Amino acid sequence: MRRVAVLGSTGSIGRTALRVIARQRGLYTLSAITAHSNAALLAEQESAWHPAFVGLVAPGEGGARGGWQTGEGALVDAATRDDVDIVVNAVVGVAGMDATLAALEAGKRVALANKETLVVAGELAAEAGSRGGGEIVPVDSEHSAILQCLAARRPSDVRRLVITASGGPFREWPAERIAAATRSDALRHPTWSMGSKITVDSATLANKALEVIEAHFLFGLPYDRIEVVVHPQSIVHSMVEFVDGSVLAQLGVPSMEVPILYALTHPERVDDAGTPRFDPVNAPPLTFEPVRTDVFPALGLGVEAGRRGGIAPAVFNAANEVAVARFLRGEIPFGGIAAAIERALSTVHGPGGADRESLMDADRRARKVVSEIR
Ligand code: NAD
Ligand code: MG
Repeated sequence: MRRVAVLGSTGSIGRTALRVIARQRGLYTLSAITAHSNAALLAEQESAWHPAFVGLVAPGEGGARGGWQTGEGALVDAATRDDVDIVVNAVVGVAGMDATLAALEAGKRVALANKETLVVAGELAAEAGSRGGGEIVPVDSEHSAILQCLAARRPSDVRRLVITASGGPFREWPAERIAAATRSDALRHPTWSMGSKITVDSATLANKALEVIEAHFLFGLPYDRIEVVVHPQSIVHSMVEFVDGSVLAQLGVPSMEVPILYALTHPERVDDAGTPRFDPVNAPPLTFEPVRTDVFPALGLGVEAGRRGGIAPAVFNAANEVAVARFLRGEIPFGGIAAAIERALSTVHGPGGADRESLMDADRRARKVVSEIR
């Protein structure tokens, strides 16, 4: 029996993870759950699962039940418990970073949906894993696909990774219309149902930049061997081209259940009759097209930040987090998100080093730049 903590259990990935674990009760038990502020749903989950640990970061007035741990330390505490073998990190944003690092340091498997961790602190995560013996297995569908296609082959066997992107709701829109897109336009994702931050990231393509950086750290390949291609049906989850010209892809209907389950079982597979089945005959035709990089500048800005390294990915991530929150509150237009990222990247500079303190300082400075944009 492997014991699981789900951080961000009330979110889109967190709720899906509980559904997946519920079908595999013979193999997995739930030891800990945490949420930011949704006390009502967290209480429902506690009643259904009776985990040993429940953490609520921001309890508000009377939000927490007796026995719950509250405050920011709840994530790290849940992630490092002795009765936890696997930490599903389904927190959104850099708020999930310390829990990932602490879990790796404590020798846990981290089933990582919280891609922001690797973008901001990819090197720190590698160091924490080699010190503590922990490992990351990606939950992101593209990276799960690549992991499955690589099947433990060396980076020298690989010519390039091809990450697929749905293209988001504005794939075919003209540039002027995109610049003025509304909140509800951006939240209408064509193929995936997800939390609001990643849904907006999918509309700007900032999500693909985060994923390119995530792939760089997970699979140890340089940026010029990681490409992005638009695939509107979201059925081919990504591809690996090997040095002999052979290309492997992983396919399936767009559902996070398979990559979440695989992150628990890797490198094994378990029988799960509940995951959605793929029927090639009734699937839509699979099409591929280039990214309109000029119309979606956030992608290029993010990949460039990844190439620069040091604090640049942390600046990119923080600027994007604040810009998306401001867009969702109606404070800046859709086109303002990439502009805000560009502003932060061109004003926040710092030491080449990427220790935790420099990264968090860069994160704070980027947040300030973007929150002051009028
Ligand atoms: P969501 O907004 O639905 O859920 C986020 C969860 O994190 C909630 O439980 C919330 O309570 C918690 N949380 C938010 N802020 C927090 C904070 N400051 N401290 C502690 N907990 C906090 O988001 P989601 O769509 O489930 O995405 C979660 C992560 O998974 C993101 O990094 C996202 O990029 C990644 N991801 C999501 C999907 C998807 O299909 N939803 C796919 C791939 C990757
Ligand atoms: Mg993804």
